[in-house]
Amino acid sequence: MSVVERIEITGVVQGVGFRPFVHRLAGELGLDGHVGNDSSRVFIEVSGSSEVLDRFVERLHTDAPPLARIERVERVQRVGAADRGFHIVESRSVAGRRTLVPPDTALCTDCARELFDPSDRRFHHPFITCTNCGPRFTIIESLPYDRDNTTMAGFEMCSACRSEYGDPNDRRYHAQPIACHDCGPELAFHSPIPAIGDDPVERAIAALAAGGVVAIKGLGGYHLACDATDDVAVTSIRTRKHRPDKPLAIMVADLAHAEEYAFVSEAEAELLCSSAAPIVLLRARSESSLSSLIAPGNPLIGVMLAYTPVHQLLLAGRRSPLVMTSANRAGEPIAYRPEHIGSLVAMFDAVLDNDRPISAPCDDSVVRLVGGRLLPIRRARGYAPLPVPFAATTRSVLAVGAESKNAFCVTTGGHAWLSQHIGDMENLETLRAFEGNVGRFVEMYDVHPDVVAVDAHPGYLSSKAGRTWARQHRVHAVREVQHHHAHIAAVMAEHQLDPHDPVIGFAFDGTGYGDDGSIWGGEMLIADAKGYDRVAHLASISLPGGDAAIREPCRVALAHLHGAGLDWDPWLAPVQEFTAIELGVLRQQLVRDVACVATTSMGRFFDAVASLLGLRQRISFEAQAAIELEIVAEDAARHHQTLEGYRFDLDDGTIVTTPVPRRIVADLDSGSDVGTIAWHFHDAVAEIVARLAMEARDTRGIATVALSGGTFQNALLTRLCVERLDEAGFTALTHHLVPPNDGGLALGQAYIAAHSTNEFRS
Ligand code: ZN
Ligand code: ZN
Ligand code: FE
Repeated sequence: MSVVERIEITGVVQGVGFRPFVHRLAGELGLDGHVGNDSSRVFIEVSGSSEVLDRFVERLHTDAPPLARIERVERVQRVGAADRGFHIVESRSVAGRRTLVPPDTALCTDCARELFDPSDRRFHHPFITCTNCGPRFTIIESLPYDRDNTTMAGFEMCSACRSEYGDPNDRRYHAQPIACHDCGPELAFHSPIPAIGDDPVERAIAALAAGGVVAIKGLGGYHLACDATDDVAVTSIRTRKHRPDKPLAIMVADLAHAEEYAFVSEAEAELLCSSAAPIVLLRARSESSLSSLIAPGNPLIGVMLAYTPVHQLLLAGRRSPLVMTSANRAGEPIAYRPEHIGSLVAMFDAVLDNDRPISAPCDDSVVRLVGGRLLPIRRARGYAPLPVPFAATTRSVLAVGAESKNAFCVTTGGHAWLSQHIGDMENLETLRAFEGNVGRFVEMYDVHPDVVAVDAHPGYLSSKAGRTWARQHRVHAVREVQHHHAHIAAVMAEHQLDPHDPVIGFAFDGTGYGDDGSIWGGEMLIADAKGYDRVAHLASISLPGGDAAIREPCRVALAHLHGAGLDWDPWLAPVQEFTAIELGVLRQQLVRDVACVATTSMGRFFDAVASLLGLRQRISFEAQAAIELEIVAEDAARHHQTLEGYRFDLDDGTIVTTPVPRRIVADLDSGSDVGTIAWHFHDAVAEIVARLAMEARDTRGIATVALSGGTFQNALLTRLCVERLDEAGFTALTHHLVPPNDGGLALGQAYIAAHSTNEFRS
């Protein structure tokens, strides 16, 4: 007997070829009916026997197009007849409900084949795309996702493209950014130096081969590119970007090309080739043609595959890999409009531009693998704006995030939409990008926040911007969230824990505003969504010079030596950084505690150890010293350890650090291997984490541990902590969807504000 069913599907089901897929599937199973979409879902009316309908629904899940993400399928039985045959009906717009916006995705293999097929009508077309690949988030101006609502609206389709666009059996059926040589956007090459030929790609290749720096417009903004094997060119990019030694990412043609420069595991290969195509941090090969200036002193290298047709054309035939770094001034958001790139002309020699406007800026994502699982470092292209599952609450929240690596979050109806990485909120440009993107998200997802969550730091620009936004939009509830509580809550949110079930949280990072007005960063909290107890923390230490100490691990090391009652012996690496007079001044500062800032920061403690071990005395980018410490420790971990382990003391909730520097100095004095010391240091941190967790389990009966904060970008530390906690029978939770650094903070702020009604300050 034949029944009629209405089936509604929500998730990422628009702009991914879902309707033609349903059309094909229904045809194959001989079902009658129709499929269509509105602004919030795909709907199907279909008639057939209930067995066949079951099979149909099953295959909706198993055979869905590659970029689709099904969240829910609802089946409603109906009486009455469906249409004869099966067809696709027009889009309908329904107010107040929104479907999910797909992220930008890498060129698919079908399009890549056509790109290099001389007989294809899109041979070498720099904007080739289909329903399975290409720009989405960065071209969408509003919903529903139709060509008129994208930055492709200004390009009128030629008749050939129009017929593909209208043909349900074509891979480009309703591919909104569809284009070809006759009707699509065009590349343009601008250079003050006359070049031969008129093909923009050929001219860009020539400029790069000649050692030039070329600004290349991509999906979410402009990159600065140069030949990654050319020391002079790499130096030129570094000088012009004022970026002396922060690692630069490279782009290669394909996986085999990546393997020439780095060791790639199977899981890493999968990530590189995924549709998100992020920058993956890989172990660099020591013998390769890459310039040693790409990531000086760092055995890791950020690698991504060519993910747009333009990139593939530039790298075809495995030409030299390219350095690809966002075009921006330090700390500012990525340039994505003509006027932005116009203001940066001193940074490049030529521009490979195009006339497809970008509606939202979006940087490349950065990820690494820890214990075979994804650890996001920067969440942007390919992931944003996909939502993080979020238990539905009665209130929607705008959470503004932190100051560095800002990303904000809006929540409503079971979704948390975390924005792409915005940047460091320390200048007007980033603030503008923040405001623009908040406006865009709120409108796109039709969110009306009931509460704005901000970091409790009184000086954060993000907090001020959040309060201003609340005032302007008449949102009366502003919730201040303690920084490390938000870190732990971000883990709880990501793992969809019960907001009322407390966890044991370790929030280790560089800096965050504490409830007592001092700088926290080595915190153990028993936390749920409503609040937290600060049950333990790293011993507070006075840092001479405050902010200067962040850039100078040698100062932090002296402070820890002083705190441990150790002499500043002249042979110690940090001591050698200062003159006798400077040392005298520093000692006075510490003794009298003037111009010092008190902190419990774990990030600073890692800096101090890196300095003591002679690895790094001054840094030019965040976590530089800590990364080097991790790397030497990781190398030593491959050999056998011979030292006696290090242990922190515990004193009534204070993690006493002094035994560790004492042992380190003694081991250095007796000539122990620096890597082995570094490994023992990591192990000691993991040991105290496990020890404290066991104490908390004994007293409070909690067996779930959450690890968050920027220090947990350290893969070795994370692995050692998880191993010890697993062994002790805990459930150890880490981040896999959002970064452990401040880039994931907004999710935790949102979780706290959504699940608790206490402590409002308007
Ligand atoms: Zn494609
Ligand atoms: Zn065309
Ligand atoms: Fe933090």
